[in-house]
Amino acid sequence: TTFKELGIIDSLCEACESLGYKSPTPIQAESIPLALQGRDLIGLAETGSGKTAAFVLPILQALMEKPQQLHSLILAPTRELAYQISQSVEALGSVIAVRCAVLVGGMDMIPQAIALGKKPHVIVATPGRLLDHLENTKGFSLRLLKYLVMDEADRLLDLDFGPILDKILKILPREGRKTYLFSATMSSKVESLQRASLSNPLRVAV
Ligand code: AMP
Repeated sequence: TTFKELGIIDSLCEACESLGYKSPTPIQAESIPLALQGRDLIGLAETGSGKTAAFVLPILQALMEKPQQLHSLILAPTRELAYQISQSVEALGSVIAVRCAVLVGGMDMIPQAIALGKKPHVIVATPGRLLDHLENTKGFSLRLLKYLVMDEADRLLDLDFGPILDKILKILPREGRKTYLFSATMSSKVESLQRASLSNPLRVAV
């Protein structure tokens, strides 16, 4: 298969090509058509499977169809993963000049607050720092958020982000929001996070 056959629009297919993505990986081939149909997804996939593009491409496509600030939030367990994801967002989204802000702990809040003031399309964050901004950065709200991704959900929960995730989920809009949860493993904790955050999800595994 090709990205085009999965339903990806030409400019994003070209972005994939320019990154050397010749054909979709199995998790991409399974997830992308379902995501484009508007389904919530649980993706069981390890790092290295191409899972990042599996959620970034549908988000970027939705953003192109209906441009909006503060469109998507991607939560990741570590700073390093957050930066890697933001690099994928920027590389795949360069065709639409996507604005992406990274909110991670251990860094000064102020430059992050300034980045939020520029109304990014996509925010990639670790949960603690996101909550800190939601509570303390004036004018920052995710009221109109359209997409939520929880990447490496098993690690998010192993790192005890559960209570913070619960607080974030209470703040985020539920109506009209699409949610993708990716995890390398399933556990009862991941399943309860899934129940709290996804609606009628489909499970894709590779
Ligand atoms: P991930 O599992 O998302 O961390 O991706 C692992 C690596 O695979 C990253 O370096 C991606 O840039 C690369 N990658 C993602 N999708 C594809 C693809 N369809 N073809 C070739 N490489 C890819």
